[in-house]
Amino acid sequence: MILYVATTNAGKLRDFRAAAEIFGIAIEPLPGLKDVPAPEETADTFEGNARLKAEFYSQLAPGEMVIADDSGLEVDALHGAPGVRSARYAEDMQFAFAGNVDERNNACLLHALADAANRSARYRCVLALAQGGRVLQTASGSVEGSILREPRGNGGFGYDPLFLLRDHPFTMAEAPLDLRQQISHRGRALAGLLQTMGYGAIG
Ligand code: IMP
Repeated sequence: MILYVATTNAGKLRDFRAAAEIFGIAIEPLPGLKDVPAPEETADTFEGNARLKAEFYSQLAPGEMVIADDSGLEVDALHGAPGVRSARYAEDMQFAFAGNVDERNNACLLHALADAANRSARYRCVLALAQGGRVLQTASGSVEGSILREPRGNGGFGYDPLFLLRDHPFTMAEAPLDLRQQISHRGRALAGLLQTMGYGAIG
C-alpha cells in the first residue's frame, strides 16, 4: 500500500519512511504539492491544523489516502508554547534578533526561559489521514526532553540544538541519524496511526 504525505520536506519524509518500512508500507510525497498554495494553518491545536491540511490535500488526490502533519515544541514552563506557533515564535513575540528564522526562534526561547528552573519540553507531531476530503484517523507522537541554556550540535533544524533528549545523552542536533529516526515524534505518530488502522509490523 502507498500512503501519500502532504510534505516536500526531505527530513520529514525520511522520518515517515523509516517508521512505515516496519509495517511494509510505502510513503510517497503527494505529487504536485509545490504547485498548490498551502492552506492557512488557522487552528489553535496541532490536531486542528493537521485535520484541515489533510482535508484540503486529500481532495487533490481522489481515492488516495493522504496524510498531513502538524508539529512543534511544547515547553511546560511556557504552558505549552510555542506549540502550534513554533515556526513563527520570534515573529509572534516581536523578538528583535539578527539571524535566520531558527536562530531567532531559539534566541527567543532562551530569553523566555531565562529564569525558568523547570525546562522540560517535548516535540509533538499530530497526523491526520484523510481520503476524498474526509478525515479517517488521527494520531499523536512525542519525544521528551528539556531546553538547554546554550545550543549544542550542528545536525537537525529548528529547536534541535537546544533540545536535550530525556533518555539519551544528546541534543536532537547531536543525535546520530538512526537514533533520531528511532525516537522521532513523526515516526511515533505514524506508527500509532498505522497500528490504529490495524497494521502490524512485518518480518
Ligand atoms: P511544521 O510541522 O513543519 O509546521 O513545524 C513547525 C515548527 O516546529 C518548525 O518550524 C520547527 O520550528 C518546529 N519543529 C517541528 N518538528 C521539529 C523537529 O523535529 N526539530 C526541530 N524543530 C521542529
